[in-house]
Amino acid sequence: MSEKTFPLGRAELEKIAERYPTPFHIYDEKGIVENVRRIKAAFSIFPGYKEHFAVKALPNPYILKILAAEGFGADCSSYAELLLAEMAGMKGEDVMFTSNETPADEYRAAKKMGAVINLDDISHIEFFEKSAGLPELVSLRYNPGPLKEGNVIIGKPEEAKYGLTREQIIRGFGLLREKGVRRFALHTMVASNELSVSYHIETARMLFELAAEIQNKTGVRLELVNLGGGVGIPYRPTDAAVDYGVLAAGIQKVYDAIIKPAGLDPLGIRTEWGRVITGPYGWLVTRAIHKKEIYRNYIGLDSCMADLMRPALYGAYHHITVPGKENEAADETYDVVGSLCENNDKFAVQRWLPKIRTAADGGPGDFVVIHDTGAHGRAMGFNYNGKLRCGELLLRQDGSVAQIRRPETTEDYFATLDLAGLKDF
Ligand SMILES: *Cc1c(COP(=O)(O)O)cnc(C)c1O
Repeated sequence: MSEKTFPLGRAELEKIAERYPTPFHIYDEKGIVENVRRIKAAFSIFPGYKEHFAVKALPNPYILKILAAEGFGADCSSYAELLLAEMAGMKGEDVMFTSNETPADEYRAAKKMGAVINLDDISHIEFFEKSAGLPELVSLRYNPGPLKEGNVIIGKPEEAKYGLTREQIIRGFGLLREKGVRRFALHTMVASNELSVSYHIETARMLFELAAEIQNKTGVRLELVNLGGGVGIPYRPTDAAVDYGVLAAGIQKVYDAIIKPAGLDPLGIRTEWGRVITGPYGWLVTRAIHKKEIYRNYIGLDSCMADLMRPALYGAYHHITVPGKENEAADETYDVVGSLCENNDKFAVQRWLPKIRTAADGGPGDFVVIHDTGAHGRAMGFNYNGKLRCGELLLRQDGSVAQIRRPETTEDYFATLDLAGLKDF
């Protein structure tokens, strides 16, 4: 069970909304920092452990700077993400570049930054060599295909476009060594939003066994193993969060059983978690502006799926609370919807909630807070239907609020059009 909390009361929210009108995502710096420190404490059993935050989850340089100050690096997969990591002061091997179908100029940029290059295909060894010249350290991404059984894998590895097969991994490291690469890393990413600790421990076991096999078959001694991302968060109050201590201890057990006898100790352990780092510490704050009673009862928010795609895209559950009504009975059933012209623009379907007051009832309408939007939230947004994405606020550790991204305007929406040419067109 996980208690679904929100760090602000209704009165505080009213004050914030005077300055920054809804909708907005607000992130809790204290929550993020405490979470990061729990991870560091659990994984300190691995000397040289580093987490490379998956920038795509929350691509805001202010957030990245908070993480950098805690010693975290970044996992980037595009040129823009490399620039974000750079803005936050992340440098060299603190940055992992895990991309796929990568253009040559992005490989060149990643190499120039000194990032750890993680290649997605065996053909990329020569592609990279031709584009940028191979660096001293190269990582290869492993796709276990049918070998990785799992419980709740989102997308079977066998059907995933990523990574090298087992046979290609062996061949790939041999090839890299022939080409003069001196330092080697192994990576995989096989799950998404996976709450099972044993699943992640089994992923580590799979990589450790492969590390030993690589050494036996090619003589290549790996320096780093990156366990990837995919650690889940308790979106539902009935879910239990992953216990970092249990996870780290479980990984240590398979490390001791496989890596030590293989003579591969010390092996650097890396992760590139996104969701679990910031997800639970973000909320989309909206207001109820309309109520509609037809075949179902609807609450219309001043936001839409442009600000949070997950419910529409995956049918994902996001918890919803109404500040000031936490203790009221949830005796109304609503579809909580946004304003986009797509019927799947629903933050919640047939959800039991307390009776919600809307702007149509007079006054500004209740705040409706959508939980766990700190990862893959604002980041996934889009402008379809002329929808402008909301801004981002940061609740600082001292209780103050800073705007770390302003809301979009129509000028932003039109910025890529050459309107000067329109008049004489
Ligand atoms: C998305 C992604 C991550 C982060 O995944 P989370 O589920 O947010 O932890 C890490 N690595 C790669 C390669 C990814 O594509």
